[in-house]
Amino acid sequence: MDKILRIDMGAEGGPKATVTPVGNYAGLGGRALTSAVVSREVPPLCHPLGEENKLVIAPGMLSGTTAAMSGRISVGCKSPLTGGIKEANAGGQPSQMLARLGYAAVILEGKPKDDVIYKVLINNEGVKIAPAKDLRMLGNYDLVEKLKKDHGDKIGVISIGPAGEMKMAAASVACTDMELRPTRHAGRGGVGAVMGSKGVKAIVIDDTGAKMRPPKDSEGFKNATKAWVEGLRKHPVSGQGLPAYGTNVLTNVINEAGGYPTHNFMWGRFAGCTTISGETQAELENKRGGEGSATHGCHRGCIIRCSGTFYDKDGHYMTKQPEYETVWAHGGNCGIGDLDAIAMLDRLDDDFGLDTIEMGATIGVAMEAGVAKFGDAQAAIDLVKEVGKGTPLGRILGNGAAVTGKVFGVERVPVVKGQSMPAYDPRAVQGIGVTYATSPMGADHTAGYAVTANILGVGGKVDPLKPQGQAELSRNLQIATAAIDSTGMCLFVAFAMLDQPETFQALLDTINSFYGLKLTGDDFAALGKSVLKSERDFNVKAGFTAEQDRLPAFFKKESLPPHNVVFEVADQDLDSVFKW
Ligand code: SF4
Repeated sequence: MDKILRIDMGAEGGPKATVTPVGNYAGLGGRALTSAVVSREVPPLCHPLGEENKLVIAPGMLSGTTAAMSGRISVGCKSPLTGGIKEANAGGQPSQMLARLGYAAVILEGKPKDDVIYKVLINNEGVKIAPAKDLRMLGNYDLVEKLKKDHGDKIGVISIGPAGEMKMAAASVACTDMELRPTRHAGRGGVGAVMGSKGVKAIVIDDTGAKMRPPKDSEGFKNATKAWVEGLRKHPVSGQGLPAYGTNVLTNVINEAGGYPTHNFMWGRFAGCTTISGETQAELENKRGGEGSATHGCHRGCIIRCSGTFYDKDGHYMTKQPEYETVWAHGGNCGIGDLDAIAMLDRLDDDFGLDTIEMGATIGVAMEAGVAKFGDAQAAIDLVKEVGKGTPLGRILGNGAAVTGKVFGVERVPVVKGQSMPAYDPRAVQGIGVTYATSPMGADHTAGYAVTANILGVGGKVDPLKPQGQAELSRNLQIATAAIDSTGMCLFVAFAMLDQPETFQALLDTINSFYGLKLTGDDFAALGKSVLKSERDFNVKAGFTAEQDRLPAFFKKESLPPHNVVFEVADQDLDSVFKW
């Protein structure tokens, strides 16, 4: 990964590709690289959909190697949803493919001067950019089918659906999985709208002829990756829980803990929880034939394999196994206890290119406003279809919960920095509340997953209902996460890393033997801190103050049943998170 591909979409005479050495960005990958480029090259006060913004797509430091779990890809820009810096990452095949072709990043710059939409082809021979009128407004599924006909089935695709073309702030960037389906999304923050503003519908990658990236120390790398795999396999979460039921195993756990946001964050338990739990989902998937419950990796080299396939009642493929966050967002949060309806909503989101968390939270707000009734699954499906069609109502919903709340006059809107909260109520899981409030990304569970020590008993124990210790917990997790997001590793490796020092060491040994380095645990933490610092600095220059590091007021005023608690972490504790 010694080169960067820059495509100036606004160049005279049409888009122009330039390949340059990686230069000052050498050694960085994933989130560290996207956030470095955005913070150094994007004016913080620019319009997110304007020519000065850049969309940076970067494989992780270990992507394209044989290291297990290393296929996450980061997508960064100034976010049209939050107005701050954004990194959203996804699984799928493109990260490994781009890395093997030698690209540390693909950067889309400028803005087309005309209303033409383009397709980019990257392979061993170079880069081709061509107008692609025939792809306009295709859903991601039809788009990939068409690209397969044109380019064969050995490709990987990074694409946007109609939501990205319409530049909606909930639009995602889709990546194809091992079955060449567009099911893996860099969902958060409207990164798809920025790709749409650059006039790029799809990036097609063909790594035929590209070789696996070679480590500097082959023997050391072999030993380190072996220890890495052993560590992941022996931890109960990555070795048993996730492979058996997928992420939706959390539905019963979080509901039991009273932290499952229900009816737009009204209650902490959902009466219909068992109808949509991971256990029920696995049973249903097994009954319908196919591959059954969680048996899939989303990219080559995944050994946790938390994913699966969801078939409809007639045994036809509908979507990938919906994740816990999606099942919650379109399920309990909207009072919907029907897995088929939730799977249909997941399929529609993936096809239109929408963040499932943002869409579920938005429909919850719309339901609170009376646009539809809680529990009405057909109404939720119809609302998402409005988004796909781009009707006036659809364009409101497609711009997320904050916009929808404003338009319909709703006070209880669960967002931070304009981005919807995910599937853990911050009153019953106070550590995740600190992460929601303070992450430079806006409300984002993956930025510092305090559910570990608050609920799961991983990486220590901190009482989820009390404010004590939460700022420190979130700080440490945000630092570790920023570093993990830079390696290209799926975040689900963190469970084993937190509980097993030898597994953390195995990751360090993997990086060190690959790059010929001698990084220590402190160096790894320093990487995370430097990423967070650059992101925080960008946000300050974009106009963010401590006021944006707060939860909406109703979380401090309304008690959440069944524990009847409010969010109690003091503002000064929130302000201490980045003082290390
Ligand atoms: S554990 Fe799940 S999300 Fe992570 S890489 Fe594997 S399939 Fe993808």
